Amino acid sequence: MPWLASRASRAAAAPARPNILFIMTDDHASQAISCYGSKVNQTPNMDRIAKEGMRMDRVFATNSICTPSRATILTGKYSHLNGVPVFNRFDASQPSAPKMLQQAGYYTAAIGKWHLGSNPAGFDYWNILPGQGIYNDPVLYDKDGSAVYKGYVTDIITDLTIDTLKRRPKDKPFFMMSHHKAPHRSWTPDEKHRAMFANRTIPQPSNLRDDYAGRTDALREQKQSVFHDLTRFDLKLAPPPGLAGPALRQWLQTKPDEVETEIGGVQKKLVGRELEDWKYQRYMRDYLACVQSVDDNIGRLLDWLDTSGLKENTVVIYTSDQGFFLGEHGLYDKRFMYEESLRMPFLVRWPAAIKAGSTSDAIGINCDFAPTFLDLAGQKTPDDMQGRSFVPIWKGNKPGNWRQAMYYRYYHDPGDHNTRAHYGVRTATHKLIYYWKKDQWECYNLVADPQEMHNIYNDPKARKTVAALKQELLRLKKEVKDNDQYAGHQPAESSYVEAPPPRKQ
Ligand code: CA
Repeated sequence: MPWLASRASRAAAAPARPNILFIMTDDHASQAISCYGSKVNQTPNMDRIAKEGMRMDRVFATNSICTPSRATILTGKYSHLNGVPVFNRFDASQPSAPKMLQQAGYYTAAIGKWHLGSNPAGFDYWNILPGQGIYNDPVLYDKDGSAVYKGYVTDIITDLTIDTLKRRPKDKPFFMMSHHKAPHRSWTPDEKHRAMFANRTIPQPSNLRDDYAGRTDALREQKQSVFHDLTRFDLKLAPPPGLAGPALRQWLQTKPDEVETEIGGVQKKLVGRELEDWKYQRYMRDYLACVQSVDDNIGRLLDWLDTSGLKENTVVIYTSDQGFFLGEHGLYDKRFMYEESLRMPFLVRWPAAIKAGSTSDAIGINCDFAPTFLDLAGQKTPDDMQGRSFVPIWKGNKPGNWRQAMYYRYYHDPGDHNTRAHYGVRTATHKLIYYWKKDQWECYNLVADPQEMHNIYNDPKARKTVAALKQELLRLKKEVKDNDQYAGHQPAESSYVEAPPPRKQ
């Protein structure tokens, strides 16, 4: 029976399809990861993924905000084609990478942050936070209802990820989305990590006091300023005793311009520059303590993988749904196309195929994630997906025709933080941003001015560069089929969800 023998040898020669462990946090900036050169913290376990695999330096969100980025990751499509330009409910009947992986024989699971307003589709198992979820004693829900989990959300999501992987069917490769709430606002650390940062002084970025000279009105009009827009709630200030109901809510939502607090055992009133510096420290200590818990838990997950014999052929990805401002340009939050918000950290380990300690500067976008997952599973990228697989890049064979520029568009205007609608293009060396509702432009030379402080849009010496970037912007806009179908559109359906009733025990 020679045909049987040849079939058997072919099967033996074909490498098993890899498992995929896709770890994603919410709002984690790459400038708070030590392998990306952080000046503010150390993340040994994230670094371990990079050291044993690859660090990608130019992976960007196409619309830097939570729900839209998640919809793009699932579908491989820009916001205007997946129907989620702002906080819209995700139409789960559309094709997605998890559905295709499941059909291709993968065991698929999603644990933790979801934030898409509709239940996960294409998963053998899911257990998710309702909406944003909370940090302490969070509720999660699955198809049978909700339950309260005692403890800290980052630990719980890791526990549930490991439990789910332990009881997965062993005859299939797995696709596991382990997605964290941290370090999203309200930046609530657990006690252990709060204590680690309580007495540290975090260095300030050099452009914390950016005066926005030469820039458009967009930066001056935003309401995401560390100095002016953090509320008493964000700053974890204790309300006066006896305050309750709407009065308490109003007190907590106030953005204080003076603060009474205890410093070194002495009660002190802070105003002006002293208060500004204190607000930055307050924000950063909490944010970084949340990140540290994620790092510890990634270590726990990597250790479990390695001792379970899964290291060699499991692709471990660490990323965040977008970047975040950690005081650069005086900002917190994301939304803007500036680097700190646009860039997604992207670390990947796959010992069977990726050379340890490698890096890539290929321009990647979050539309590339779905094609990458499908490629790992031996599946073709559907024609209507707008990304390309990272797998050749990981293997050191970047295709010669890889993209030289990426297209970005932010819609939520009017919206939270008063961030102006804009679209733009980023190349390896330059960025052009068009605040189209205001008809104002910014252009940056990212090589000479990586902090994006000098708008060269009106510089006569940059005229040719600006013209070429405009042409590229229009070409890309057309290529990705953005015909302004969502310009000015505010959706009725929101991604806000309540937890369903408790599960029956
Ligand atoms: Ca986010």
